[in-house]
Amino acid sequence: MISVEEALETILANFRPLGLEKINILDTRGRVIGEDIFAPRNIPSANNSAMDGYAVRYADTKGATKDNPLKLRIIEDIPAGKVALKKIKKGEAARIMTGAVIPEGADAVVRQEDSLKEGRTVVIYIAAGKADNIRFAGEDVRKGELVVKKGSALRPADIGMLAALGKAFVSVYQKPRVAIMSTGDELVDIETEPPAGKIVNSNSYSLAAQVLECGAIPVMLGISKDKKTDLQETFKTALHADLIISSGGVSVGDFDFVKNVMGEIGNAMHFWQVAMRPGKPLAFGSIEGVPLFGLPGNPVSAMVSFEQFVRPSLLKMQGHTKIFRQTVKAICNEDFKKQAGFRHFIRAVVKREKSGYVAATTGDQGSGILKSMVTANGLIVMGENETAIKKGTEVTVQLLDDSLSCSESLQL
Ligand code: AMP
Ligand code: MG
Repeated sequence: MISVEEALETILANFRPLGLEKINILDTRGRVIGEDIFAPRNIPSANNSAMDGYAVRYADTKGATKDNPLKLRIIEDIPAGKVALKKIKKGEAARIMTGAVIPEGADAVVRQEDSLKEGRTVVIYIAAGKADNIRFAGEDVRKGELVVKKGSALRPADIGMLAALGKAFVSVYQKPRVAIMSTGDELVDIETEPPAGKIVNSNSYSLAAQVLECGAIPVMLGISKDKKTDLQETFKTALHADLIISSGGVSVGDFDFVKNVMGEIGNAMHFWQVAMRPGKPLAFGSIEGVPLFGLPGNPVSAMVSFEQFVRPSLLKMQGHTKIFRQTVKAICNEDFKKQAGFRHFIRAVVKREKSGYVAATTGDQGSGILKSMVTANGLIVMGENETAIKKGTEVTVQLLDDSLSCSESLQL
């Protein structure tokens, strides 16, 4: 049986970033940009005023103080968006608003608060230094500068920068379409009150939400019966997708046909079974060139396997390079035992306390206990050879969400 690392290596070798699509920047948050963006112009485009006040020649204000003010003649008003018509000469000033272009001849701006307007004259109370309150052309971005690097996941600031540069459309990696099917004669759809012996298909929903969390597009293919012909039919309808995920039917039961079908319809099965718990009976292969994850049926196993293997694959397909969940070291505040031989992913709650991170398990770790995932925000990772965690010792916790980067109270 292969290890988690071997499985990941095989899986990731089978995925490449998808092609690019050019889309409106309003739709690009979180998407990975597939081109370098060089600034086609300076920002700001011209020297402009950082304040409401008066554009002056700084030399003309020399010696001005509260007790010894001096006067300049106002020759023009320059609101933001207007360009000055006149040049500032000795003894002159122009009323100027924040953002307006500095008129020719001026080399400083005196703040309104440091002056008094008297008709077409301005009284200056403070001497200006050269370039005071002037924002220079290109001080934010220089023409030709690389501002957004190919491969970055776009954040609001990047999108604002693209807008400032007039880039309404940019190329980003496409979103994978992920076909999701559940297998099992015991499954009924969400709308049905399950009769005796049946359960609601919940995996399709948790997996679809995980797909969405990765930025990909779930395509719901519903429930397939535990019959080879049924499975084959459903797999065929999934071939338009970039990736197929099935859950259930990959174990050693009498009706676990997924891996047989994978082996039959023209294809490669790369491996079956990984030395991990939950999630041992994972099958990975492809059907007519479309990669397929046969995830285990137990609700926790399906989700944990998705986290370890499908999530990094989907992120890679979208051009991301940071494809793995972050881990933290935490002090475990309980004893925990397991058998040697498998990597364990133990559902846990991890919190940040004054002393550092602290983790506790979410209780019953059965692979059918979906509540253990509902209450968890992390997975304690226990190595193959480890058999016990002692209360008060350090463990590695893989974070499942961003709950540790948010807080109910103001953190300053
Ligand atoms: P299997 O791997 O097909 O034997 O499934 C193992 C167990 O997982 C089943 O007995 C069900 O209890 C559960 N299970 C399988 N598929 C689903 C599903 N789509 N939604 C919820 N539970 C499931
Ligand atoms: Mg089954």
